[in-house]
Amino acid sequence: MADYYDILGVSRNATQAEIKKAYRKKSRELHPDNPNGGSTEKYQEVNTAYEVLSNAEKRQMYDMGGEDALRGGAGGGFSGDFGGFQDIFDTFFGGGNTRRGPASRTRRGQDALVGMSLTLEDVVFGTDKTISHEAIIECPHCLGQMTEPGTEPVICINCDGTGSTQRVTQSLFGPVMSQATCGRCQGYGTIIVTPCGECSGEGRIRANQSVTVKVPAGVEEGMRIRLQGKGDAGLAGGPAGDLFAQVHIEADPVFTRSGDDLLCTLEVPMTSAALGTEISINTFDGERSLTLEPGTQAGQVEVLDGLGVGRLHRRGRGDLKVQIQVATPTKLDARQRELLEEFAAQRGEDTGSLVHSSSSIFDRIWERLSGR
Ligand SMILES: [Zn+2]
Ligand SMILES: [Zn+2]
Repeated sequence: MADYYDILGVSRNATQAEIKKAYRKKSRELHPDNPNGGSTEKYQEVNTAYEVLSNAEKRQMYDMGGEDALRGGAGGGFSGDFGGFQDIFDTFFGGGNTRRGPASRTRRGQDALVGMSLTLEDVVFGTDKTISHEAIIECPHCLGQMTEPGTEPVICINCDGTGSTQRVTQSLFGPVMSQATCGRCQGYGTIIVTPCGECSGEGRIRANQSVTVKVPAGVEEGMRIRLQGKGDAGLAGGPAGDLFAQVHIEADPVFTRSGDDLLCTLEVPMTSAALGTEISINTFDGERSLTLEPGTQAGQVEVLDGLGVGRLHRRGRGDLKVQIQVATPTKLDARQRELLEEFAAQRGEDTGSLVHSSSSIFDRIWERLSGR
């Protein structure tokens, strides 16, 4: 047999690009359909040569020991039957569905997505959340086999169970064989004549399913938690897909979240802010007491360490930040008004003064909340 390099007309140190280019040119010239110089035999040689030289490993073996090395004799590790007519045939027709036997009905199920609503408390501590959703499950009647129990799929008579049909057409150069997926059995080689009555032969049905999702603390809005193998059932015994539970966090009436911290606002009377007080507040960890020093300012932020959101995949928790809002009294009766006027007069507080905006309450709130 001629040298593979000679067949493609390239030098022994040709690059892959050169080999590919040469192959394209040669295979066009020598294609059996080409009336000017086409040849089945030569076309076959070109394909065999290309199959070896386009594969770095095979090429190296060929370079070392010639064709014999590739036949498996010299420790090749290849079966040696590549380059046969079938491979040429596959290359010629694009491979894939040629003479590969009937197709399998087995398929992996699709991944499914389901929404999951969580409270802020769920997110603070993490939780096991059970959700119900409409799932695609294996048909319990036929166990996914699609055919009514007690019946069997029958061999397709059109293709004798091979899943494909062959056709021989005459061309200028003799008979040409072509293959196609069998139209009767869609390539499966068998036909289900008695589909399962429960699932109409689909092998799967829709059903409400409950699944428990392990939700770690600190998940964020929109995150998807993957539950392996809990998605749509596979076809004909194929593995199930995965289920993704997408997190939605419901708004909490009291607390808002800022990263790992929880924020809330505590309104206290002006007198409490001025005189100082101790207040009990309801946190996700139960009642906690908060001490306000005399002279607490509006906008001041009190920090309760470690009462915030659990950190995702890390130890520890954020903080609970309580912003103080001072309620200015309204609807004063005459006596109260008199007392406040006397108080103001005592302190000489009959007016206000402009302060630079950088020391304003708004900036201080912002600084405290953003941790600057
Ligand atoms: Zn069924
Ligand atoms: Zn068929």
